[in-house]
Amino acid sequence: MEYTRERVQFNTRICDFQGVRFDFADWWTRIEAGKHLTYHAAMLRQAGKPHSKEAAMAKLYCSELAAWATTKAVQFHGGYGYTSEYPVERLMRDSKIGEIGEGTSEIQRTVIARHLLGPEMTGGEVGAT
Ligand SMILES: Cc1cc2nc3c(=O)[nH]c(=O)nc-3n(C[C@H](O)[C@H](O)[C@H](O)COP(=O)(O)OP(=O)(O)OC[C@H]3O[C@@H](n4cnc5c(N)ncnc54)[C@H](O)[C@@H]3O)c2cc1C
Repeated sequence: MEYTRERVQFNTRICDFQGVRFDFADWWTRIEAGKHLTYHAAMLRQAGKPHSKEAAMAKLYCSELAAWATTKAVQFHGGYGYTSEYPVERLMRDSKIGEIGEGTSEIQRTVIARHLLGPEMTGGEVGAT
């Protein structure tokens, strides 16, 4: 966001383009949504309640959010975003591991769907991977 306040193209700061502002709004809204999913799952765990569906939803959502948000960050920087001159390309590369490590996004979706359908519908134990 700081960079888009400084960078001027077509006599306009990048942050003053409506399309960029729409992205900022989506960015922040999704980050807040990810925080709420995460805190909700943590709260359930702390209370000793079942939380595997909620944890899988938080992991899935936040992993994909991180990949999407950091790709957007590169885009806001234009060509500079792609170079190692700014740290955003590194953040984009690092964020990808969230969709793979500690249970891939596909496996999180499998866990969530099992909870929604129940074990008798999926031929597996609810929550089992
Ligand atoms: C940098 C890095 C660090 C790591 N650190 C650790 C670590 O510290 N400890 C550790 O235990 N592991 C670690 N891993 C391994 C990581 O947990 C695995 O890569 C991950 O669980 C995916 O397993 P896999 O690579 O065997 O992929 P595969 O199981 O071969 O999956 C390949 C693709 O097929 C999909 N897929 C597989 N099964 C299904 C299915 N039933 N339904 C739908 N799609 C499916 C997967 O989602 C994935 O997209 C690390 C990996 C990396 C890259």
